Amino acid sequence: MIDVSIENSLKKNLKEIFGFDNFRGEQEKIIKSIVSGKNTFVIMPTGAGKSLCYQLPATVLEGTAIVISPLIALMKNQVDQMMAFGINAQFLNSTLNKSEMNRVKNDVVSGACKLLYIAPESLTKVDNLEFLKKAKISFVAVDEAHCISEWGHDFRPEYRKIKEIIESIDDNLPIIALTATATPKVQLDIKKSLDMDDSVIYKTSFNRANLYYEVRPKLNAKKQLINFLAQYKGKSGIVYCLSRKKVEEIAELLVVNGFKALPYHAGLDSDVRMKNQDAFLNENCDVVVATIAFGMGIDKPDVRFVVHYDAPKSLEGYYQETGRGGRDGLDGSCLMFYALDDITKLEKFNKDKNVTERDNAKALLMEMVAYSSLGVCRRRQLLSYFGEQTEKNCGFCDNCNKPTKTFRGEEEVILALNTILKTEQRFSANHIADILTANTKDNPAIASYEHDKLEMFGKGLKYFNLSEKFEEEEEEDEDEIVVNKKPKADINADGKISAADKWVSIIRQLMVFGYLEKDIDNYGVVKLSEKGQKYLQDPYSITFSEDHDLNETEGSGEDE
Ligand code: ADP
Ligand code: ZN
Repeated sequence: MIDVSIENSLKKNLKEIFGFDNFRGEQEKIIKSIVSGKNTFVIMPTGAGKSLCYQLPATVLEGTAIVISPLIALMKNQVDQMMAFGINAQFLNSTLNKSEMNRVKNDVVSGACKLLYIAPESLTKVDNLEFLKKAKISFVAVDEAHCISEWGHDFRPEYRKIKEIIESIDDNLPIIALTATATPKVQLDIKKSLDMDDSVIYKTSFNRANLYYEVRPKLNAKKQLINFLAQYKGKSGIVYCLSRKKVEEIAELLVVNGFKALPYHAGLDSDVRMKNQDAFLNENCDVVVATIAFGMGIDKPDVRFVVHYDAPKSLEGYYQETGRGGRDGLDGSCLMFYALDDITKLEKFNKDKNVTERDNAKALLMEMVAYSSLGVCRRRQLLSYFGEQTEKNCGFCDNCNKPTKTFRGEEEVILALNTILKTEQRFSANHIADILTANTKDNPAIASYEHDKLEMFGKGLKYFNLSEKFEEEEEEDEDEIVVNKKPKADINADGKISAADKWVSIIRQLMVFGYLEKDIDNYGVVKLSEKGQKYLQDPYSITFSEDHDLNETEGSGEDE
């Protein structure tokens, strides 16, 4: 229960400081939760209004709220905004000089400052902690909380130390963690790392019903881009590219073709960046061509399209970036160009990372690749990726609009689910597919686990007209006859999708449909969900979609 006077102040400040008549969605519940001292976990898409969930409580509680945020630009925006509202907010980061730093510290210790924004790097510096111990802290907000997890798309090692630091200030401080992007695995990581198992979770649907998702193979990307943008003359939008060089080049291309476009990337001087960003916000420029450096904390309601000229590194990133479209509730179009070459390039970027980081980055990238090639409703795929099951196709994505060929399967489903059970739900989709297609050539682990002795070994080959591509040949072994199924020819050599790929696609679709789920403790491992268990008791025919063939893409190297 919270105090009536605090409850009244919340309503009053909502209107008088922030200028809003009502709370939006679950804001009120979230705010009451943190105000009453409970650990609170907020997972809501970008634009849902997360900032208010810590800004407003900070204004009614005694003392200073600490806001941990990874982005200096974001901090500055929010501090400026709060100051304009008449709230004393400050930030502490590496851009401040000694005397500015002291002023901030004094304001916090005296209790004048209501919101203190700190970068996690600054928080870990010992002399930054001492003054906090002298201050009255109301609560701690951990913004962009997914940065805690190595399985998120933006891991920051310093985020791992947050809990320890909070405890050293006061081990009873309530924490509100906020993120717009958290797969079930990342959610678990956040809870563990901040030691907030007891937290109340507020999770709203990730669905952005007014965003249209589309993936097109990159064939003649520049022409494709110009044609697409021609429908949006005079409208606002963002075109994301992978490299600074590409940003410059595409911005120029657009200008030459009569678009009001400007570049934005971290290599530009900060005043140029600021100028270009303002031009976009003030409608003096329609299209910003940018690297992912652009967009965090930018709140322009009427962004009509978000194009990924180059494939993104992860679905987390993709979802955040596309989430900048259509914030006014009107339609936004999200177009991604996909090229195998881009994937290869992205993999090269990971070369210098350590083994774990590289494996994680690769796993995230492969999710993106699967998303691009799967023929299933894009929205269902995205939502299922973030742990949300939907029963219906959305009707507002390219796969719904122009479905690929479908096929039905029941025996196939039973076979796949049983193979997963038989191997004790400890393996990845790829491994299961390799068992089913006897793909020992690519997967030596099959033999080491003795999965070639399973009754299911090679049993997947007779489906989907793949069997004619295989022959059975008997081989004399020392003391037993083994049946060795070998592909007659390398199936991939003619550009066709391999048998194992087909099964991976089926397993992935079963995940989207909710029959399978990811093992939250072992990345990449697939398990049966409750729905999958039930299915085996009373099976029925399921409709699958064929994958897109994205092999014949042109790549981003078109003119380099
Ligand atoms: P998020 O952090 O979830 O991405 P923001 O906090 O930036 O979202 O809020 C997105 C927009 O919604 C902002 O323009 C904000 O002013 C607006 N907003 C937040 N809460 C409310 C509310 N209760 N009523 C109306 N607008 C709101
Ligand atoms: Zn759809």
